[in-house]
Amino acid sequence: MNNPIALATMSIDGAAIPVIEISGRFWSLDQISPDLLKGDERGLIALFDDWSDSLNMLKELAPQVSELAPPLAISPESSDFLTPLRYPHKVLCTGTNYYDHVHSVGHLDFSKESSFPAFFSKPPTTSLVGGGSTVQYPKDSKEFDWEIELAVIIGKPVKRVSAEEAMGFVAGYAVALDMSARDFQRNQKHFVKMDLCLGKAFDSACPLGPKIVPSEFVADPHDLSLKLWVNGEIQQDSNTQHMIWSIGEQIEEISKNITLEAGDILLTGTPRRNRTGAKYLSENWR
Ligand code: MG
Repeated sequence: MNNPIALATMSIDGAAIPVIEISGRFWSLDQISPDLLKGDERGLIALFDDWSDSLNMLKELAPQVSELAPPLAISPESSDFLTPLRYPHKVLCTGTNYYDHVHSVGHLDFSKESSFPAFFSKPPTTSLVGGGSTVQYPKDSKEFDWEIELAVIIGKPVKRVSAEEAMGFVAGYAVALDMSARDFQRNQKHFVKMDLCLGKAFDSACPLGPKIVPSEFVADPHDLSLKLWVNGEIQQDSNTQHMIWSIGEQIEEISKNITLEAGDILLTGTPRRNRTGAKYLSENWR
């Protein structure tokens, strides 16, 4: 296996710069090969016009990167990273997809066989943000909440595949937060008592990144640690092995009737939390 590479989009002097990370150093993709993005202002999403070709080019360039351009003279802070993908077609999300989450809220007799995964979506251009202080507290919400999730990036169009075939359509992985306004999501004034749009699709509801790691550098996406700290205190500490529906099973279900396109993002659910964020964030947000 080649040395791992990762992709990100950084804010440098006010511009969104697509970068590659190799061994802890960053290079501007434009500087090592103008042919990669071809001046496309959409940034990294342009690589997904033909992800297979793009990845092959990146792996060819990686061993000689120091001869092509100097690394960026930066020591990045989390706030320097923008969302790695700014213009995907879709951001889809799977709800309630971890056994430890389901068990922690009292459903000890939960059975996968008698259940079906729930899906929803977030608007890509307004919900995706990067690291740092990028999230706006939803106006009038009093129950703002966090969920750390493994994000899957789709590499080529896919419709109606089996769970086994589906993994061949995954380009890479990132970390995402599914931010939720619980009081909008479960508004008792709603006739159906549920609104996944206002509850989860508001502006800046989907921090993503900082990096995308191509799937061939992730040995087992169903054995990844997921940890989230709030103000230095760990609030989620689990592993993707506790997913109820595997990544392949989620893609199989969604792609029965929704075409997943290259660059689309799928958030795969969140594990149990030490505490729900709703009350905490309403009291500690600044
Ligand atoms: Mg979620």
